[in-house]
Amino acid sequence: MTKDSERKISELKEKIKDFCEVRDWDQFHNAKDLAIALSIEVSELLEIFRWKTREEVQDLFKDEKKKENIQDEMADILYFLVRIAQRYDIDLSEAFDKKMEKNEQNYPVEKSKGCHKKYNELD
Ligand SMILES: [Mg+2]
Repeated sequence: MTKDSERKISELKEKIKDFCEVRDWDQFHNAKDLAIALSIEVSELLEIFRWKTREEVQDLFKDEKKKENIQDEMADILYFLVRIAQRYDIDLSEAFDKKMEKNEQNYPVEKSKGCHKKYNELD
């Protein structure tokens, strides 16, 4: 097991690439089907939280087995996100930094602090 602080995204890409190549899965892993798989995994995470109150969701993280279910779905989400990036030569760190710059512009602190409005609805 490797901690976040000790791992690079490029290592995840390499691990996922190797995992898929030995299974001959490249033939199935096009952008559309990977995006569908990613969306399904996000839905599986949502399913864990469905109909739970805010307090009940908090309690899920205190139960080892339930927390592990959440972690598993988050890992599935990461797997498909990184797999799309690996297959289509997308640098996730660069993409993230670029998007965060846009977010900084779209959500200036003076307009968005304590406010949940979308950027196009900010005054
Ligand atoms: Mg899953």
